[in-house]
Amino acid sequence: LTTRLRPFTATIFAEITELARKTGAVNLGQGFPDTDGPESMLRVAQEAIANGVNQYSPGMGEPELRAAISEHRAARYGIEHRPEDEVLVTCGATEALTAALIALVEPGDEVVLIEPYYDSYPVAIAMAGGVRRTVALRQGEDHRFELDLDALRATVGPQTRALVLNSPHNPTGTVFTDAELAAIAEVCRENDVIAITDEVYEHLLYDGLEHHPLATLPGMAERTLSISSAGKTFNATGWKIGWVCGPAELVGAVRAAKQFMTFVGGAPFQPAVAHALRNELDWAEQLRQNMQRKRDRLAEGLTDAGFDVLHSEGTYFICADVRPLGFDDGEQLCRSLPERIGLAAIPVQVFCDNPEPAKHLVRFAYCKKDEVLDEAVRRLHKLR
Ligand code: PMP
Ligand code: GLN
Repeated sequence: LTTRLRPFTATIFAEITELARKTGAVNLGQGFPDTDGPESMLRVAQEAIANGVNQYSPGMGEPELRAAISEHRAARYGIEHRPEDEVLVTCGATEALTAALIALVEPGDEVVLIEPYYDSYPVAIAMAGGVRRTVALRQGEDHRFELDLDALRATVGPQTRALVLNSPHNPTGTVFTDAELAAIAEVCRENDVIAITDEVYEHLLYDGLEHHPLATLPGMAERTLSISSAGKTFNATGWKIGWVCGPAELVGAVRAAKQFMTFVGGAPFQPAVAHALRNELDWAEQLRQNMQRKRDRLAEGLTDAGFDVLHSEGTYFICADVRPLGFDDGEQLCRSLPERIGLAAIPVQVFCDNPEPAKHLVRFAYCKKDEVLDEAVRRLHKLR
């Protein structure tokens, strides 16, 4: 393995899921739902396979899906993307992110992440030969994480090529406020930085919060690559249908990298996702409401079990402080939990360059059936 990839051998998700499998633990670690997406979407994929949609798609993706993505962005956020050259279909949001960084970052360029960060970002920066800089989210007084705007301004400068923003944010569940988004947009404009936004949880915000894509802020459309995928919106994480939208020049650069990574992918799933974006947004809204109830159910259970629970405003995830139960290292705890009480969860410190402030935090996924959440809580009570 090259020196630039050596720090990144095993992903925490694979490690913990393997531990969960071996011990038969309830898995609130890796974030994936345990029910299927809308039936009509599944049917369209089956019909596509039966009807011979089984060969390579066009390089940019199936035209029908690019049109549906463009319509969805226009209807929901008022952003116009030409389906011909401003929308690119990718193998999940993961490929879109990696291809974007490889396409746009020169060796030595700085890329700014907000930490804790999603685990593929630092690896993609390393693959591109870029230099990672991070700005930490701080735990605020109201149990919400907030962005340190002074740290942001001190970290982004003329040496910065790109900034990656994930809102709603994995692992904290934070939805960035309009003031935080405005500050991010301002530093991007002032320093001529490309924003890469990971919006995979764009449909999963709770308590009346709304998703505001960074690209909708003044001066940002021309410098933003907006990334999302069908995985979280339609319970289809295994399909790996993602996309990236933005100005033709930037999307063209991502395509240049993407075409030699996978060329294309998931042909029969593409018309199914197009169908879902056009016809199943009510289903997605039902999912959102269910997920909000599940968040509350797990938050209550974790509180009863003795954790200090932080606020989750969106995503699949909720973080809890393990210190009230007498633990001080979340990673140690997560590595022992499957064996000890038959439960899997993810330590937050592994998503940080500076693990110290996150050392006591553990992330739980609530995108699971109620009985699974309840069983997890029953097991967590044994920690006392
Ligand atoms: N970004 C974030 C923040 C995620 O949580 C995930 C995975 N759950 C991804 C990207 C990956 O998305 P995909 O499966 O579409 O590649
Ligand atoms: N995004 C999912 C999570 O955060 C996991 C995806 C993966 O296993 N790479 O749990």
